[in-house]
Amino acid sequence: MQRRKTRAVRVGGITIGGGAAVSVQSMTNTDTRNVNETVAQIHRLEKAGCDIVRVAVPDAAAANALKEIKNQINIPLVADIHFDHRLALKALEAGVDKLRINPGNIGAREKVEAVANAASERGVPIRIGVNAGSIDKAKYGPPSAESLANSALDQVRVLEELDFHGIVISLKSFDAPMTIAAYRRMSELVDYPLHIGVTEAGLAWEGTIRSAIGIGALLAEGIGDTLRVSLTTDPVEEVKVGMEILYALDLREPPFTVISCPTCGRSGVDISVLAEDVKDRLSKRKMARPLKVAVMGCAVNGPGEAAMADVGITGGSGVGMIFVKGQLARKVREEELVDELMKEIERIEHDQES
Ligand code: SF4
Repeated sequence: MQRRKTRAVRVGGITIGGGAAVSVQSMTNTDTRNVNETVAQIHRLEKAGCDIVRVAVPDAAAANALKEIKNQINIPLVADIHFDHRLALKALEAGVDKLRINPGNIGAREKVEAVANAASERGVPIRIGVNAGSIDKAKYGPPSAESLANSALDQVRVLEELDFHGIVISLKSFDAPMTIAAYRRMSELVDYPLHIGVTEAGLAWEGTIRSAIGIGALLAEGIGDTLRVSLTTDPVEEVKVGMEILYALDLREPPFTVISCPTCGRSGVDISVLAEDVKDRLSKRKMARPLKVAVMGCAVNGPGEAAMADVGITGGSGVGMIFVKGQLARKVREEELVDELMKEIERIEHDQES
């Protein structure tokens, strides 16, 4: 997949843009002033694969908590600030790795300049985040791809005039087609890295689909350097969805992939139970290398339909099959299918090592 060329921006130990792997971000939903709860949630996010985490900084007490949070986590920390430039300065002093702040919301030029200078001295980038819901309608008109892009461009110019170029841009809307059009437009106008996402995407199920469509369409066109899935649920789910979007587009390699058939009248076994069991066992073991593992409903079509899998099983009436690269390896009793599959995976890994 050809990705659009963007500038590289460093966020702590992670690079956004410049051809770096697309990173996955999330945002805590704890009270940032509660350091223990916030750190605990960030650790869960880290474990799920989150590359960069953002916390809300609504007041001085939250800004004062940033240093302690930063000391206890292993991934880059972003401070999300609205209006008050003093909070941005405090966040920078606390050692955050990125700011999310819109220059247009800060007010006087001296205030923006103070933030840009302090960020520049520390090598900390700024994300300009324009949302359809908060766009200045009097100035830019109703939310549209064009008004989102124009609003963001004005904010970019403010920073550029201050000779600040460590910029990341987001242009989010609940409306997936509008979001896609806005990012397409922006990617033609600037080469700053783009943080992509569909904002306020909704509850877990609908929001996952809306996000996968919006984010997936952009990534498939090579647009997007970092992403956040916005869901009304535990933010760990946002990270899982973000990772799956990247796996689906071959932009990241998963530790394993379970391929399972939809089942039909030929299936003699409950595939969803089998596939969940296989997924559960694979997620608990350390894979020597990424494997595609198939769980198919019948021996007639299963091995052929899942020929791209490294190894797989098919159900049957009491007797199932283990197949390797589409070829029958052996028959096993149905109740031993998953145990035997795991043994086959160990064998494959062992053979590859020796
Ligand atoms: S593998 Fe067999 S059971 Fe599954 S969808 Fe194909 S034909 Fe149906």
